[in-house]
Amino acid sequence: GMSVLELQDIQKCYDVRLGMFGGRAKLQAVRDVSLNLCKGETLGVVGESGCGKSTLAKILMGLLKPSQGKVLIDGQPLEGFSPKDLSRKVQPVFQNPYSSLNPRKKIFDIISMPLELHELGTKADRRKTVMDMIEKVGLPPSIAERFPSQLSGGQRQRIAIARALVVRPEVVILDEPTSALDVSVQAQILNLLKDLQQEYGLTYLMISHDLSVIEYLADRVAVMYLGAIVEVASVDKVFKAPQHPYTQALLDSVLTPEPGLGLPHVNLTAGFPNPLNPPSGCAFHPRCVSALPECAQHRPQLTSTSLGDVACLLKTDFQQKI
Ligand code: SF4
Ligand code: MG
Repeated sequence: GMSVLELQDIQKCYDVRLGMFGGRAKLQAVRDVSLNLCKGETLGVVGESGCGKSTLAKILMGLLKPSQGKVLIDGQPLEGFSPKDLSRKVQPVFQNPYSSLNPRKKIFDIISMPLELHELGTKADRRKTVMDMIEKVGLPPSIAERFPSQLSGGQRQRIAIARALVVRPEVVILDEPTSALDVSVQAQILNLLKDLQQEYGLTYLMISHDLSVIEYLADRVAVMYLGAIVEVASVDKVFKAPQHPYTQALLDSVLTPEPGLGLPHVNLTAGFPNPLNPPSGCAFHPRCVSALPECAQHRPQLTSTSLGDVACLLKTDFQQKI
């Protein structure tokens, strides 16, 4: 399909200050990330905290400049868009609906603000658009006159979704959209996101540490580890036949009551490496039960296989030699 959003070899380095003596170090938060989002699909980006997925989201929203590489929206470089133009193409929905809604504004004004900013329609048109949007996200009209503090967490997230969609963006970046909500409310919000995607032909990039959320909503999954993508495949392939040892470990840590116990994979509750001092070769090698001595020397590249793209020497380089 047509590519709505494209990332080409994105790198993001931060200069960080170390301790009281003011030493400096480079933190590579995103490393060689290339991705394509096709119109109408949901790409899930999954990984532990510190893997670079939030940095990636900020780059996509134009909030951070990559150190290297390109972001294309409808084939046009992101830096060519003004913040205002960009906000009609890409809209975020953040994790925390408590902090992302202005507590002093009524719900009506919160949702109509983007329409005013873009000078879309007359006052009467805007009123209708806002009230329609409130209905689309499953809330009663009376909520328009309320303040965020009078709403439940789920209602606030519905308002955040309404505000994001009111300008009809093409892409919505969903950054942990349900992690702050009760489990019962999570499912309702995910269903709402599915319905709205269908209705408006939206493209979603969803960032989450929660594999069940990813499995429910995503068509394809990109797995990140220490700033790099280690596996990209369809949701079925990732969940039924994960190729990368890290993806296998992530799945085990969720699917077993006691992570790591009696399993051939690592316990991911411990041992996330220091991003300031990443391991040599394959960054996953200190935690990987399949690691060979070569893994500490060679950095595997993301390579296409019949089961998706994977960055593991066992699945690519060593395979080819046998
Ligand atoms: Fe494990 Fe080696 Fe594959 Fe890295 S390259 S995931 S260390 S087997
Ligand atoms: Mg995050």
